[in-house]
Amino acid sequence: MPGRSLYLLRLRAWFQVAVIAALAGAVGRLYAYTLWLWGQAPGAAAAVPPAAPPPVPPLVEAFLPGQALAGARVWLAGHGFDPVHPAGLTIFLAALAMSLLARRGFCAFFCPVGYLCEGLNRLGRRLSLSRRPGRLVSTLISLPKYLLLALLLWFVFVQVAPADLAVWLLGPANKGAASDLLRPFLAPSANLLIPLGLILAGSVLVPGFWCRGFCPYGALLGLLALFSPLAVWRDRKKCTYCRRCTRLCPARLPVHEARRVSGPECRGCLKCLAVCPEPGCLTLRAGYGAGARRLPGWVLPLLCALVMGGAYLWAVNSGHWESPVLAEENRLRHLLYQQFQPALPP
Ligand code: SF4
Ligand code: SF4
Ligand code: SF4
Repeated sequence: MPGRSLYLLRLRAWFQVAVIAALAGAVGRLYAYTLWLWGQAPGAAAAVPPAAPPPVPPLVEAFLPGQALAGARVWLAGHGFDPVHPAGLTIFLAALAMSLLARRGFCAFFCPVGYLCEGLNRLGRRLSLSRRPGRLVSTLISLPKYLLLALLLWFVFVQVAPADLAVWLLGPANKGAASDLLRPFLAPSANLLIPLGLILAGSVLVPGFWCRGFCPYGALLGLLALFSPLAVWRDRKKCTYCRRCTRLCPARLPVHEARRVSGPECRGCLKCLAVCPEPGCLTLRAGYGAGARRLPGWVLPLLCALVMGGAYLWAVNSGHWESPVLAEENRLRHLLYQQFQPALPP
């Protein structure tokens, strides 16, 4: 018998379509910007007209979580909101807030890397290449990301003074981070291709290879999600131990044994809840112990959408989305282009 909440899978699929469409548009605009930038380099083919550069789309700053962590540190220390990648910092803070409220909602509903890794592992299962590791190996696999997170937090919160971080945020390396995101992929080197190939192959072979094993962003969100009042609960009396939930859980959690699925690896994707065939066996609840209150499954994705949508509207209306610093950089680059363009080959 199919699960009674299959609409949750469709809801998540719609989230995925919307996120991928928005990112595809942003990456397309970034590609146009990269071409413009390459066209102005001395010696490059001057294929780009001397028009004003297309703006770098703020959404691509979501791919700079390291900068966002530094920006958060600087902001917490009272040095102001990062003016270079404000959209990246906004998305990062929204993801943290989402975790505190609604588990790892960012991983479940927004992160395209998570979608990609899940899709690759689905392919691996279809080709009978994917193997589910045992509990001990699963636990060992999940350790490197905490080590990476600890190193990052130590560096950003202990090793470097916030004032120095603020100076670095305004420096040339950081200013070019968003606009240079595509460069390594347009002329890939072995330093990029080898680790990328390992991550992709690992994701095909082992469920959650990247997300569970190495992503420090996911580790941080998982630790914050420990405080989330929302969680999937299992009613032992209604459970038939068919294990459908466990088989389809992308984090490979033993849902069929849990009372409350509340560990840091649970992404809150609600796939288990959607596929459970027993009515009322798996439910979304808010709270702890006997006082936990049952909620409809759609509340969790709705909360995630409200947090991200609210953060976006706040950022746009308060001038924390488009970067004034990058706009000025673009203007200066355009002036340089106009000045040197006559010297470039036709
Ligand atoms: S663990 Fe990292 S890569 Fe995976 S979905 Fe979460 S943020 Fe994205
Ligand atoms: S919770 Fe129990 S009944 Fe529901 S899918 Fe899991 S094992 Fe089957
Ligand atoms: S336990 Fe359920 S909600 Fe958590 S990751 Fe697994 S399928 Fe998703």
